[in-house]
Amino acid sequence: DIRDIGLERTEAAVRLTQPPEGLGKRSGHKYGYGHALVLSGGVGRGGAARMAARAALRIGAGLVTMACPAAALQENAARLDAVMLRRLRDRAALDEMLEDERLNALLLGPGLGVRTRERDLVASALAARRSTVLDADALSLVAQDSELRAGLHGGCLLTPHDGEFARLFPDLADRLKEEANAGPAFSRVDAAREAAARAGCAVLLKGPDTVIAAPDGRMRVNAGVYGRAAPWLATAGAGDVLAGMAAGLMARGWPGFEAGCDAAWLHVAAARRFGPGLIAEDLPEQLSGLMREMGL
Ligand code: AMP
Ligand code: MG
Repeated sequence: DIRDIGLERTEAAVRLTQPPEGLGKRSGHKYGYGHALVLSGGVGRGGAARMAARAALRIGAGLVTMACPAAALQENAARLDAVMLRRLRDRAALDEMLEDERLNALLLGPGLGVRTRERDLVASALAARRSTVLDADALSLVAQDSELRAGLHGGCLLTPHDGEFARLFPDLADRLKEEANAGPAFSRVDAAREAAARAGCAVLLKGPDTVIAAPDGRMRVNAGVYGRAAPWLATAGAGDVLAGMAAGLMARGWPGFEAGCDAAWLHVAAARRFGPGLIAEDLPEQLSGLMREMGL
């Protein structure tokens, strides 16, 4: 039972006070804190990616660039200041962009779209083998495309909710459903662990209890049952912010599993700090005060 496995609070807090070598003190050049690239979709669908980009900045990425179709540039420019904007036509343009090795973390999925153009963008992004968060539409694309699935690598972090998880791993979702009433024989922990082993990368399975699993068998549960419940976190866009937080940590050097653990922990902490009435864009704004209170 996942309720028997916990104590993630202390561990996550400790990890956040011991960031990867050289990134502990905020004294270096902005490029020392990484550069995250967020791919965004077309007109009217950019909100998810914008919130994610903001979250990546708030959690400490040195730079964040959003790449979007030309038609969406104006809309994004009107709503983002600290985030750099690039026009992104197609896969070739992304390949060119990724020649810049300083773009060290990618976020694929929130508001991206699921057409051929976006499918090809995800293929190129995976081929670049950067630290990469796959969420939302990117997960839908991977679920229906064996070539994309084969492109997943150890630097990836998948962040599905239950529905996305079922599309990616239908047999595991079926087992969860079947055994839901038969006791803890096959729990969400088992499902996430098996998924991570199959995908060869970290998997963060979202829900009231969020499970993070690594392909080597490590796992953590960020459980609401430990008095960390934040039911108001179940709100539109919350998952996009979580993906942006993870991408920001990965830009700063966190590996996928650790980024998933710490992002999930801070995500709930930010929701609890704000309280009821939360909407997704409030979450990144809590990070500053929250990290200060935690001595980070
Ligand atoms: P998404 O479905 O992508 O928007 O992600 C939803 C976010 O809300 C995830 O971070 C979940 O862990 C969280 N969440 C969903 N349901 C609940 C709930 N009942 N209580 C607390 N958090 C939740
Ligand atoms: Mg989502």
